[in-house]
Amino acid sequence: MNLKITNLKAGLPDKEILKGISLEVPSGEVHALMGPNGSGKSTLANVLAGHPQYEMTAGTIAMGNVDLTELEAHERARAGFFLAFQYPVEVPGITVGKFLKRAVELRRGEEGKFNVSGYITELRSAMDFMGMDQGFINRYLNEGFSGGEKKRMEILQMLMLNPNFAVLDETDSGLDIDALRIVAKGVNKLRGGKFGSLVITHYQRILDYVKPDKVHVMVEGHIVLSGGPDIVNELEARGYDWVKEMKK
Ligand code: ADP
Ligand code: MG
Repeated sequence: MNLKITNLKAGLPDKEILKGISLEVPSGEVHALMGPNGSGKSTLANVLAGHPQYEMTAGTIAMGNVDLTELEAHERARAGFFLAFQYPVEVPGITVGKFLKRAVELRRGEEGKFNVSGYITELRSAMDFMGMDQGFINRYLNEGFSGGEKKRMEILQMLMLNPNFAVLDETDSGLDIDALRIVAKGVNKLRGGKFGSLVITHYQRILDYVKPDKVHVMVEGHIVLSGGPDIVNELEARGYDWVKEMKK
């Protein structure tokens, strides 16, 4: 589905971080959001997901014909919004298998009449696809996972939940090239059809594997530049200083 953000202002109670963001990702497209550290990329991801720590003071967020603006985080997730976290949390006591089963059940609205054996088959094949050992099913969610394993786990969740729109917050950071390829493979699997995605990254590397339809650059809470994929090469060659200049 498409995601349409209109004049979004948000931040912490005492600090405005996003200063009027308008951005649209049409259904079926993958856009990249780039920008220097501290520009507000993760804040945007969190605000889109409905993180209660952040306060929205203006604007609207719509996914397809669903207005997300007033919805709670879990309602956005059920509607098919997915966020892959920059820093996935460890949840001791809950296994990967149980966590995903419950999440998938809620997302599909199949409470009570869930086909468990079908789910297990699906989970096993998604894990094979992500190059994850089946032993992860019985491990506690993210507990003791390496950085790369946590990021694969985020993408596994995404595949199982089959979202309408996914935001990936620096899922590429800290990954070696093999893990990066697998993460990209996961995104490319959902790509097309009605799935839309915003891939947040500081570096160009993941964009060699997930080719964005369009690129947006954020500086100090503003989108200062939007355009074709060529922007990525220009940022790689020239750094971020020249785009910082664009913010006056
Ligand atoms: P990016 O993801 O682009 O690196 P962030 O959205 O993480 O940027 O941060 C943008 C700015 O907002 C930074 O100055 C950061 O310190 C501040 N910020 C974001 N979230 C919080 C928070 N929960 N508490 C304090 N400051 C925050
Ligand atoms: Mg960030």
